[in-house]
Amino acid sequence: MRIALGGIVHETNTYAVQSFGMTTMDSFDVRRGEAIATYAGTRTFMGGMLFAAEANDHDVVPVLHAFAQPSGTIDGEAYRTLRDDLVAGIAAAMPLDAVVLDTHGAGIAEGIDDLESDLGQSIREVIGFDVPLISTLDLHGAITQEMGDLYDLLLGVYEYPHVDMYERGIEAIEAVPNLVSGEWNPTTHVERLPLLLPTSSTTIAPAGDIRDRCLELERVEGVLRCAFFHGFPFTDIPAAGASVVVTTNADPALARAVAQQIAAEVWDRREEFRLESLTPEIAIRQAQRVIVERGGPVVINDTADNPGGGTPGDATHVLRALIEANPENSCFGYIFDPQVAEQAHDAGAGSTIEISLGGKHDDLHGSPLEITVYVKSTSDGRFVYTTPMLAGARANYGPMARLQMGGRGGIDILVGSARSQVFDAEVFSLHGIDVTRFDLVVLKSSQHFRAGFDELATEVITADSPGLTTLRVENFDHPRVDGPRWPIDPEAAWVAD
Ligand SMILES: [Zn+2]
Repeated sequence: MRIALGGIVHETNTYAVQSFGMTTMDSFDVRRGEAIATYAGTRTFMGGMLFAAEANDHDVVPVLHAFAQPSGTIDGEAYRTLRDDLVAGIAAAMPLDAVVLDTHGAGIAEGIDDLESDLGQSIREVIGFDVPLISTLDLHGAITQEMGDLYDLLLGVYEYPHVDMYERGIEAIEAVPNLVSGEWNPTTHVERLPLLLPTSSTTIAPAGDIRDRCLELERVEGVLRCAFFHGFPFTDIPAAGASVVVTTNADPALARAVAQQIAAEVWDRREEFRLESLTPEIAIRQAQRVIVERGGPVVINDTADNPGGGTPGDATHVLRALIEANPENSCFGYIFDPQVAEQAHDAGAGSTIEISLGGKHDDLHGSPLEITVYVKSTSDGRFVYTTPMLAGARANYGPMARLQMGGRGGIDILVGSARSQVFDAEVFSLHGIDVTRFDLVVLKSSQHFRAGFDELATEVITADSPGLTTLRVENFDHPRVDGPRWPIDPEAAWVAD
């Protein structure tokens, strides 16, 4: 089979425009043609696609893959350039048996609220409806019926942390012969729920239970796919919210019935998705208690400043509370501050410097910390992930430094030059920090870190604060949504039609 591969991947946080402005072309890691093969051997969607294509001896045409860290709305011209390049590459590769894409589902460009539908439409104009079009997706996508109609298959991850991207990539390729032969004649129903859910790991209830129910119903005869998409609450578009996406083999009534069955369960359990919002001070006190009772390392995650959800990555609320509590033997990884990283590199290991750290991009994420630190070491910020979510993929956080503050055991603070959440302990190891020997490990992430830290942590405690990915989703106005949304609006109601 001759299959074109490509994708445009972006989770858009429309509120993040206040911190960094629009997402421009410079923010994208664009790989064209054979450069896409650099994803081979990584536990990513594209890694899975490349593996399955080779294993099944398909003739692959890699076209264009563009990924940017979650951030504000994409500049309209940047998106159109990427889209048109991808579509032109697909047109040039015709005739094709299928097109397989990697998209997110929560992409928004200036004037385009549903990037994935716009992209699907543009590709359909070239390939028509006889050539299968498949896309993998993130479970934080805002899925619309238009997407369901444009794509033959939408393969969202089931897990959060997204440890199954690689497997979904394999499935996308393995579905091609079934679609080409006509054995599968898919029809998709998208049941949207008026819910703006706070971050919800599938490692625990209720999201884990809902995932299990989806997998159970996927075994029903005729059901090809059943997935619950949590949606992305930090975005103000008409379709913002959660959804259940069910694909059956030519049975629209079954697709609708199964989707509504899951939707009813999600709706009934919506209160369970609300997590306790602990201030940084309380989270640190709780952690200290656990350390005394059961030992470390206790992991505190700074959920409100998760660059993986479009935040600046330089919030100081949690770090400030940590410095004030001054617990023994603690480390913080990491804060985005290229200026301080450069200052540390210029001064060099062994020097003591006065810095103004973080809090530099907006008013929401705290003010800079004026502190004196010892430069323990510096690095180039490059390493390879080991987390089951991204194993094999290369990280590059730019120039980094390990800074130390006084205190009895002292606090080790990592500073980096590129925005990212922390996925595993490798960024600490890079700077000589064995997290298992620390009592308290504080990091920026909402859930993905669990895949790399759950096994080594005595306990995980989530700290919340003002921030673009706070647990308090009701803090954000959503004037553009197409109806009431729970938990902001008590009138929000889901009714099966
Ligand atoms: Zn996600």
